[in-house]
Amino acid sequence: MPISAKNYRGRFAPSPTGSLHFGSLVAAVGSYLQANHQKGEWLLRIDDIDPPREQKGAADDILRTLEGFGFEWDDTVLYQSNRLERYQDAVHDLLKEQHAYPCSCSRQSIFKKTGQTKGEIIYPGFCRNGPLENRTQASDYSVRLRCSSDAIEFDDAIQGRQVFNLEKLSGDFILQRRDGYFSYHLASAIDDAEQQITEVVRGADLLSCTPSQLHVQHMLNLSSPYYCHLPIAVNEKGQKLSKQSHAKALDIKNSVVLLYKTLKFLGQMPPIELMKANQEEIWDWAMNHWQLDLIPKK
Ligand code: GLU
Repeated sequence: MPISAKNYRGRFAPSPTGSLHFGSLVAAVGSYLQANHQKGEWLLRIDDIDPPREQKGAADDILRTLEGFGFEWDDTVLYQSNRLERYQDAVHDLLKEQHAYPCSCSRQSIFKKTGQTKGEIIYPGFCRNGPLENRTQASDYSVRLRCSSDAIEFDDAIQGRQVFNLEKLSGDFILQRRDGYFSYHLASAIDDAEQQITEVVRGADLLSCTPSQLHVQHMLNLSSPYYCHLPIAVNEKGQKLSKQSHAKALDIKNSVVLLYKTLKFLGQMPPIELMKANQEEIWDWAMNHWQLDLIPKK
């Protein structure tokens, strides 16, 4: 991978919607060890731009948990809630350049018109040439980014060559919701570029978010990082670990065993004795033995 080791910058970007769980630990450990291996920096960003989904105290709890597991981050933590002006400026620029447009459609009206019934909406651009319905206030519109039918391609360090078509994946997607909140794609794309992240290492559940984020960066003339999507941790029912699937919160008291399990999950073959090691010893082993090539795709 043509990233100069000297400039490598990785990051971990949890959303404060609840406590960290094993799935979060996989992303944290993977991005941390990859940055360490490249002798780069590892930054921490708190994705707190969706207050209705957030849990009070979760951001502090996340920082305490990471500290308790022995992670050390560079720089001060970036809180996305401190970046709202930047996101608003970006939306204004994209509107001015007509890369984005105001949209009056509600989720329900899109479902009705397209026959889609559930899940992520594929928006076919009803309001591209002007909002279909006149609303009384500017705040009654969401803002969508135009996408084209051109394929978006990138090489993922673990998942290999990826080709996506945004028209089929999501259609023109939301940058700013009607309630004024900014989308994850917009905020993440801007912050990854402006924090000069060279490689994003995260769970493969976010693989299909990558083309949208690349598109935002492209439309804002920002640079794009490389991507590396780790296998997803699932529970016995095969569901992705998450707050919705009631994933257990990480317990600092079990940090060594959990780190051992994470290394194993990431294909790193830690020797069994490490289960009884102390935290420093397991991190030492992990840093000296990290091999991206061993990580399974799934
Ligand atoms: N904040 C996102 C999440 O917790 C992840 C962001 C990212 O790694 O791009 O799912």
